[in-house]
Amino acid sequence: MRRLLIGASALAFAGAAAAQDARAITVEAVDGRRVSLHGADVEVREDGATDVHGWARRARAQAGVINAHLHAEAFNAGGRSLGVVDGGWNGALSSRDRSAEPFHIRLPPDMANAAVRVRVTVEPGQRHD
Ligand SMILES: [Zn+2]
Repeated sequence: MRRLLIGASALAFAGAAAAQDARAITVEAVDGRRVSLHGADVEVREDGATDVHGWARRARAQAGVINAHLHAEAFNAGGRSLGVVDGGWNGALSSRDRSAEPFHIRLPPDMANAAVRVRVTVEPGQRHD
């Protein structure tokens, strides 16, 4: 319990600076044919790590196993690509109720520091990270 309280106060303390950093990075989420993305955002965590997070949901009228994953590609102010990070959503995407599953993709510090824009896309096949 004590550890939890310490974590919460550290988070509140870092909140102002983190919010400013996160606002500097815009996020574009591009739906795939079989998977749609929702609520994508960038979060600078209390330990300084930068996560792209959001929700993935099975696209309407798509049945069967979905073999796909996510790419987060970061761009600098000049529009140059800083690289791609592989990621995925948690669990299977339900075909019964099309419930959304969360995703978190951590950007390496050198990428996060230079990035002004991140584009999240749905890619076919298995993750290759
Ligand atoms: Zn990939």
